Amino acid sequence: MKVLVVGGAGYIGSHCVRQLIAAGHDPVILDNLAYGHRKAVAPELPFYDVNLGDREKVKAILEDEAIELVMHFAAFCYVGESVTEPVKYYENNVVATLRLLEAMMDANVTKFVFSSTCATFGVPDRLPMTEDLPQAPINPYGQTKLDVENILKSLSHAHGLSFAAFRYFNAAGASEDGLIGEDHDPETHLIPLVIDAAVGKRENIKIFGTDYDTPDGTCLRDYVHVDDLSRAHIAAFDKLDQPGAQHFYNLGTGTPNSVREVIQAVEKVTGKKVPVVEAERRPGDPPALYADSKKAKAELGWEVKFDTIEKIVETAWAWHSAKPEGYQDRG
Ligand code: UDP
Repeated sequence: MKVLVVGGAGYIGSHCVRQLIAAGHDPVILDNLAYGHRKAVAPELPFYDVNLGDREKVKAILEDEAIELVMHFAAFCYVGESVTEPVKYYENNVVATLRLLEAMMDANVTKFVFSSTCATFGVPDRLPMTEDLPQAPINPYGQTKLDVENILKSLSHAHGLSFAAFRYFNAAGASEDGLIGEDHDPETHLIPLVIDAAVGKRENIKIFGTDYDTPDGTCLRDYVHVDDLSRAHIAAFDKLDQPGAQHFYNLGTGTPNSVREVIQAVEKVTGKKVPVVEAERRPGDPPALYADSKKAKAELGWEVKFDTIEKIVETAWAWHSAKPEGYQDRG
């Protein structure tokens, strides 16, 4: 299938592009490189340096390339920044996404795969988290993703848009060959920060809160490998033939790991000691978030390949070892 990957030069999008090729699809990449990396995408692939909110240009690309399905990974994703700069988040994550969806309708492209987040649920009242839990985001980032989920439902109802929305837990890891991986600026995610502390690129890793009501007092999260996430998205393509189809899936391994367990995994994989500082809780961090992905398993035949935190960290370490400074494609 001819697929437009919006945000295809970003962390998850670039991994999905490679999985699309492995599955025999034909990806076309759209990315304005605000956060994405040109080097994360093979140079021979069709690449448009265009803003997803540019309705006219996107429509022309959809038509010229005869796109059959659009995948959207191009959201801003810093929770803290979304609290201090909400307009930036609503502008890109909601308004520009609406323009993208309008361009799709203009061009009669009716299949859409959306990267949503477990942050749409806020603080869950039940664990593990199933799709039917109430959604009550606690920050603008999660709210913008929930807004798009609701827009998709309305467009599906009114115009027959078929879509699958995936609520990811903690996307982590890198391609197994170490060629592409996580390169955020600034980096806020736990695994790359712990690796930086292991190799001495930062003085230490701060554990945000050691007095949570969890087995070792630190937060529990569900780390899921980017390639596993990508494969779930691709498995959903078959579900989108019916006009107006609506699918929501929570994607995680279902096995939570604490911050301390992640640090231990990095120490084991790298063979290096990680200097740790116990710090205050980070505002807005729920104590535990982990998925019940039975629905994705049953309906998509999805199986997690990277089923332990060590396996995920091994791939992040392979990427770090190959490119300690990341892509180095910023001026
Ligand atoms: N965390 C931490 N120190 C850091 C960064 C993160 O203790 O320097 C913790 C954070 O409080 C959370 C977990 O690691 O419990 C995962 O955080 P991350 O920012 O990677 O993802 P989030 O769960 O916030 O989406």
